[in-house]
Amino acid sequence: MNRTAIEKAVALIAESRWPVAFTGAGASVESGIPDFRSASGLWLRFDPLEYGTIGAFRKNPRKIWSMLEELLAMTEAQPNPGHAALARMEEWGFLKGIITQNIDGLHQKAGSRNVVEFHGTLDRLVCIGCGRTYRTSGTLEEIPPACRACSRILKPDVVFFDEPIPRAVIEAADKMINRADLVMVAGTSCNVMPAATIPLRIREAGGQVIEINPEPVLSGLASVVIRGSFAGAMLEIASGLKAHRPGR
Ligand SMILES: [Zn+2]
Repeated sequence: MNRTAIEKAVALIAESRWPVAFTGAGASVESGIPDFRSASGLWLRFDPLEYGTIGAFRKNPRKIWSMLEELLAMTEAQPNPGHAALARMEEWGFLKGIITQNIDGLHQKAGSRNVVEFHGTLDRLVCIGCGRTYRTSGTLEEIPPACRACSRILKPDVVFFDEPIPRAVIEAADKMINRADLVMVAGTSCNVMPAATIPLRIREAGGQVIEINPEPVLSGLASVVIRGSFAGAMLEIASGLKAHRPGR
């Protein structure tokens, strides 16, 4: 990894007033979760049109649950050192929040507190009838699980391909984006809308963009590009920030 890029990123974050992170599938790869779109990914084996839409779920929830069971295995995954480094940065005051496209809950598991889950989370189930929500753990004795209030089938509280992002989530993300003066973009190729516009919006408002990707994609938009893995880069950045902690 490029030392100069790490040092430059550390300096920018230390100077920043309201730094945030924007993470994607690449952040979870080192936790053993393959990118859904990769060669071994879920959407190559399950056609997203057939399995990934709320229309398909309503029509045949049992069939979609056969795929969801595999997806929910993700909730067994553990955070990697990159997640832990981000949680430490928040604790030290060098990170105000995270917007993630991931649905695995690993940022919270690592201790991050201010997290906007743009595409929802597998840690929660929601009733397609009455909207009541349940914690996933402890609700899966029967597949597909049913709502205790109205007996309709529950679905993971994640955004399906043909569903809009919930308004409250958009608003929480907007609040973060509007305050941010720096964004660390990590493990995402920024090609899923509307999440993809986040670095651009922060840049256009005069903020700094730091990109961390094995194959960087934000050419021109990023002030610093760190070519490397999520965990490796975050560990280096956190260790650099350690010296800048207030009160030291
Ligand atoms: Zn219900």
